[in-house]
Amino acid sequence: MDHPRRALEAAARAGVGVVVAVSSGLASGEALLEMAQRPLPVVMGVALGIQPERADVDAREVEAVVRLIRSRPEHCVAVGEVGVAHYRLRPLAPDTAAQERERSLAVLDQMLAVARELGLPVVLHAVHDDAARALSRLRAETRAVFHWAKAPPAVVDAIVAQGHMVSVTWDLMWRQRDRAMALRAGLGHLVLETDAPWPLPSGEPSAPALIPQVGAEVARLFGCERAEVANRTRRNSLELFSRLGASGAGS
Ligand SMILES: [Zn+2]
Repeated sequence: MDHPRRALEAAARAGVGVVVAVSSGLASGEALLEMAQRPLPVVMGVALGIQPERADVDAREVEAVVRLIRSRPEHCVAVGEVGVAHYRLRPLAPDTAAQERERSLAVLDQMLAVARELGLPVVLHAVHDDAARALSRLRAETRAVFHWAKAPPAVVDAIVAQGHMVSVTWDLMWRQRDRAMALRAGLGHLVLETDAPWPLPSGEPSAPALIPQVGAEVARLFGCERAEVANRTRRNSLELFSRLGASGAGS
């Protein structure tokens, strides 16, 4: 866990005060919870989930993650990431892809049920045409953030109208489609992320220390001050991940 700690130290130096670290399954969820017990340079909330692009997930792991979430670990602020398999389905034959998508939707339903039961928000991985699929499975009582959001304009409108958030990454710096999506969602529905350690186009791993750069790009896009973006997206995040606010992270 040395590298994640160094990443948080760099984030703190860059002025980041609060992060939500998402897990991809049981092992990373347990590791993050253990890390969150120790003194850290930033406030860190943990999201527990099953990353839907993983092909190696079995029912036993899903049940173990559900049990872990239900045990209400102190630092768990959300269920995530969860969602719909997309990228890993691209090379598959249509029938196999459809089956795999259904399998990932079944896991998503299980995770959404736990989120509802415990009143936790969800971090969704549901891109392009899958954003609408995930949205249709959310019930009114569950709030969500569509992470690394990529969705058609009408779906972005529906996400916002239902009170959910979209989170944008450094992709904003070069993808016109993502810039248009952020503008469409509006500052009141945006949160910032870096999807660390997913590599940047340069091949370098992404890191939470890049959050201020994403914020600066949002400020350029909306033609407003960086501080306004920082305050607004922080408020959006704390509203969504309300257990972070309850722990004093909002101060
Ligand atoms: Zn994801």
